[in-house]
Order: sequence, then C-alpha cells, then structure tokens
Amino acid sequence: MLDPMEPMTFPFDNTYARLPERFYARVSPTPVRHPRIIKVNHALATELGVDPTRLDSASGAQLLAGNVIPEGAAPIALAYAGHQFGGFVPQLGDGRAILLGEVVSADGARRDIQLKGAGRTPFSRGGDGRAALGPVLREYIVSEAMAALGIPTTRALAAVTTGEPVFREEPLPGAVLTRVAASHLRVGTFEFFAARDDREALATLAEYALLRHYPLPKAGGADPRDADLAALRLLECVVDAQANLVAHWLGVGFLHGVMNTDNTAISGETIDYGPCAFLDEYSPAKTFSSIDHRGRYAFANQPRIARWNCTRLAESLLPLIADDPNEAAHLATQILERFPALFEAAYARVMRAKLGLIRQESDDAALVADLLDRLASGRVDYTVFFRALCRAAEDPSADSHVASLFERPEAFHGWAEVWRRRLLAEPGTPPEARAVAMRRANPAVIPRNHRIEQAIAAANRGDFQPFETLVRILARPYEEQPDAQHLALPPQPEEIVKQTFCGT
Ligand code: AMP
Ligand code: MG
Repeated sequence: MLDPMEPMTFPFDNTYARLPERFYARVSPTPVRHPRIIKVNHALATELGVDPTRLDSASGAQLLAGNVIPEGAAPIALAYAGHQFGGFVPQLGDGRAILLGEVVSADGARRDIQLKGAGRTPFSRGGDGRAALGPVLREYIVSEAMAALGIPTTRALAAVTTGEPVFREEPLPGAVLTRVAASHLRVGTFEFFAARDDREALATLAEYALLRHYPLPKAGGADPRDADLAALRLLECVVDAQANLVAHWLGVGFLHGVMNTDNTAISGETIDYGPCAFLDEYSPAKTFSSIDHRGRYAFANQPRIARWNCTRLAESLLPLIADDPNEAAHLATQILERFPALFEAAYARVMRAKLGLIRQESDDAALVADLLDRLASGRVDYTVFFRALCRAAEDPSADSHVASLFERPEAFHGWAEVWRRRLLAEPGTPPEARAVAMRRANPAVIPRNHRIEQAIAAANRGDFQPFETLVRILARPYEEQPDAQHLALPPQPEEIVKQTFCGT
C-alpha cells in the first residue's frame, strides 16, 4: 500500500529532458515493495529547497525509492558510451539510474537529482537495474566525506532500503541512493554521439555543457553558439577541472578505482564511487579494485589516466573544432598538452598546503617527491603522517613521534632537516598559525576502507549505527573529535581490506 501523500516536490526546472530525444530514454522508476529511509541528508535537502523533515518520512521514502514520481519530475535515463579499462563500448547509458530532474538552489547552482538503483532502463542490458545496500552506503559515506574534505564531488541526498533482495553472489538487501550532481554529463556522453557521427548532437551537447558548467563572464569571450569556439573552450575547461580534481585526490590519498571515461564528469566532480578507497599506508602502485589486474587505475597513475580521458573527449570534439582534421587535431593537442603543467601546479599547491609552505620555491617538487619515497619505503600511514606533521610544525619535540611512524626513524629525520630549513626561510608566520593552516589541509579522519566495510557488514545485519557514526564524524574531517579516535586510526593487520568491488 502506498502512503497517501501530499505533493512533496523538489522545485524542478528541467533542461536536459528538453534536449533532443536521442539524448536519453524516458523511463519511470520501477516501484519497490517496502521502501524505508536509511538516511536523509538534511543540510543538503535544505540547500536544494526541499523540506528535510518532510523528505525524512514514510511518504518521503516512497519518493526516494521511486514509487511516487514527484510533481515536475521528467524521469529519464541518459545515453552515454565510454572507454572501460581502455576498450571502447559504444553504448552504456544509465542502466540502473534514473534522473528525476534538475533543481536550482539558492546560490544559483543547477543540480541533477538522480535515483541510483531505481530499476531497469533501456540501457540495462543484462543488469537488474538495482543496487545493493553495501555499494549505496559506500557511495553515501565516501561522497559526503569528499564534500566535507572540500573536493568537488557528487553528493548523497538520501539512502533508502527497498524491502526487496538483489541477487549478486548471494541475496543482499536492495537500496536506492539519491545522488545530487552538478550534472551527469560525462566524457562518455560526447563519445556516444561521436561514435555515431552525430555532429549536430555534439554541437548541441557542447553548447549545453558550456552554458551549464563553464558559463562565460558577462562581457567578452567566445559565443558558445560558435561550435568551434565552444568545443575548444569546453575542452580547455574540462582539462583544467580534471587536472585540479586529480591533484586534490592525490592530496587526500583517494583512489577512484574505475576511471573509465563514462565515470569522468564534464563538471569536474568526482563521480561513480565503485571500488574507490583511501590509502592507508602510502603506496603509489596501490590498487584495490578486484578487476584492475594490471594497475591501470593505480594511485599514482591517476593523473595520466585523467589526461588520457581528456584526450578521448578531445577526439570526440574534433568534428566541431575545425573542418580540416589536421587543424582540429593540432588545436586540440595544444590544449591537451597543458594538462601536465596544470596538474603539476595544482598538485604543488595542494602539497605546499599540506607541508605548511607558503612560498613557492623551485625545489618544492623534489621535497615532496623525496617525502613520498620515504613514506612508501617506510610503510607509513599517509593520513596519520600528515596530521602528525602539523604538530611537529609548531613543536619540534613532536619529531620523535612522527619519526616513530617510519620503519626506520632516520628516514623522517633526514627529510625533516630539509623541511625545517625551508620553514625557517619563511619567517613571519608564527609556528602556531602555520600548524592551524596545516590542520585545514591535512584531515584527522578519512573514510577508511575497513571502517566502511564494518559499517556495511553491520547494516546488512540491520544495525545502521556504525554507518551513522561514520557519516557524522566524516562531516568534520579537519577537526579533532574526541569520539573519533577509533575512526582516525589505521587498520589493525587483521582489519586491512585488500580488495574492493564495483557497485554492480
Ligand atoms: P559503473 O560500473 O557503475 O560505472 O557502470 C557501468 C555501466 O553498467 C553503466 O552503463 C551502468 O548503468 C551499468 N550498470 C551497472 N550496474 C547495473 C545494474 N545492476 N543493472 C543495469 N545496469 C547496470
Ligand atoms: Mg559509471
């Protein structure tokens, strides 16, 4: 029985559903037996102009599970293609996600409201269109943690259970995640139309993407209706956004795990939290994903892959860039070649903040590289190290503690000498102020894999308390929270999670 419900609606203002029909399939969510709220993100609901207490109710559960279509929604599944582990798949599309519509929040930002796990669509192929509870909670925890860390990301508005099992290797509780994103445009969306030689759709899409994500300042600049200028500017903006995004990932030790082009957002947000994980011990070659056998998406490979993904975007845009293929390739290459410098600059900014350095110096990169080598060979926990370093910045007597994190403490002292000389060469910043700034760049707590797995295991038994605690603590990652000690610590040897799995 459905609860009778008053219209409880998002202030929808849909634009994508007004694009040509071949951009999507109109499809409604498939109702589920017994939806129940796990969690509603009250702060985010308020931002989106929805009353959080009304959403966090039995009738809200009907809406968030897709049983009731809110007024103003125009449910669609988006068409896209993508390179998966390097191989091109001309048609992927939303196989288990349905876009309800778009909402413009008070700050003017337009955002998609999408139900992930809401049933089959014309893009489902062999899949059931559903999501299991574990991956839904993982995405909720990690995407909200990323937002709190200040990293561009899609958000989680809500998670509900469906009251129906999904069948993977074993029956698991089914769930639906309400995802909020700047948009769901991906590199793969462009590849979809490029693979079909649909120049008209590409031009429409490029113009749409530019207006939505990278609108021009009021005066001057290119008119996005000029397809060639729009395409070049879009490529430029995406290259910049991706270079910055990956720099931020590396700064917090985030490993996306499945950087396929269909999981690369045009907006520059982190999207599609599948087998993602944060590093415990620093290890540049680390992979977690059960299917990444060759380490394509290994931690330190992420900048290279982001550039590779931008190159696929560039290829898709070539027909818009210039009629002469050689000229188009030349123009696109010029932009792609900026990627390394943009990444290096963004990464240097991120790492300087982590090390408490204010001035930019020519040997910064060497200082960082030397440290990372020592962290890797010393098998040091990445997050614990940098947080401890904040202490050392204001109190050199904390050095011995930091050094004790290394297998060979001298490995830290050798580096610390150079680091301290560098700090002394930046007079004028009191050590306490430096430490305060460093604590804003070095989280005390991150969503560690073993804690996520523990929260999921408990939830599968019906206990959502560990999930709640994790979400609450991770909302303030840069603060010292007295009840967060156990979440800040690295895993015990028996707790280490060696593998993560896709959400499918
Ligand atoms: P992902 O690994 O989440 O990036 O998904 C890759 C592709 O598989 C996308 O087209 C998804 O929509 C599709 N897909 C993933 N899981 C399912 C599922 N359970 N049912 C239908 N399609 C799915
Ligand atoms: Mg995906």
